Amino acid sequence: MPLRTKTFVGLAIAAWLAAVVLAVLAAPILKPFGSALAAAALGAGGLYALFVYYPKFDPTGSTAWQGGRQDRRIAITFDDGPGPDTAAILDVLKTKGVKATFFFLGANAARLPDPVRRARDEGHAVGNHGFSHAKMHRMTGGVVEREVLSAEDAIGEISTAAGRKILRAPHGFKSLTLVCTLRRLGYTLVAWTAGVWDSDRPGAAVIVKRVKAAVRPGCILLLHDGDGTRPDADRSQTAAALKEIVDFCLSGGYKFATIPEIFDGRP
Ligand SMILES: [Zn+2]
Repeated sequence: MPLRTKTFVGLAIAAWLAAVVLAVLAAPILKPFGSALAAAALGAGGLYALFVYYPKFDPTGSTAWQGGRQDRRIAITFDDGPGPDTAAILDVLKTKGVKATFFFLGANAARLPDPVRRARDEGHAVGNHGFSHAKMHRMTGGVVEREVLSAEDAIGEISTAAGRKILRAPHGFKSLTLVCTLRRLGYTLVAWTAGVWDSDRPGAAVIVKRVKAAVRPGCILLLHDGDGTRPDADRSQTAAALKEIVDFCLSGGYKFATIPEIFDGRP
């Protein structure tokens, strides 16, 4: 997958430097206990924590979070749905002729199968966001497998990118167990380039303003059409902001693509 190698290397170097600085700072404190080894372990622990909690940082190369920067396309993605406002979001996308990617939650898809069917029928990509929205970074491989496959049962066919089904982990938290289990199940992780905290409901105008500041070529934009824990989530502000977001991007010469279109290298 065309991850942004340059930025990735920059992030890895920054993370490594941070780990080294942390290790050097901690060395005098750890000295009485013996050790450069403990400092090194601390540094390694810091790096692993960064991998777990920072969605874009993945030295295993398993996470897609950005399309090519030379590619003047944006992938709009929605998490946590379907919910009561998914239909309004689909209406805007239909009116504007825009295809997006929905990472549906299994529990919500089981309650509201119609918007899932509609999203698929209208040409949007459909991804897996787990069944219960439980964070996956502390799960065993067996529990991850149950979450992923039960969500798949509720959502139906999952879209693929570069030959692998797409999944976005709740909160973007990950672990080596998660990465390995997903690989075994034929999945790949998809994170995001920019989130705008639309789920905090700051008002449609603020959501639009944040998106305007964040978009750039190859951007994977994170929005929400549902909630991880409340099936009655109010995402009307996101729906209201969407038209202006699309108009702004189009006027800036951007086009829209789904996650599979971007990572399969399709025009
Ligand atoms: Zn979520």
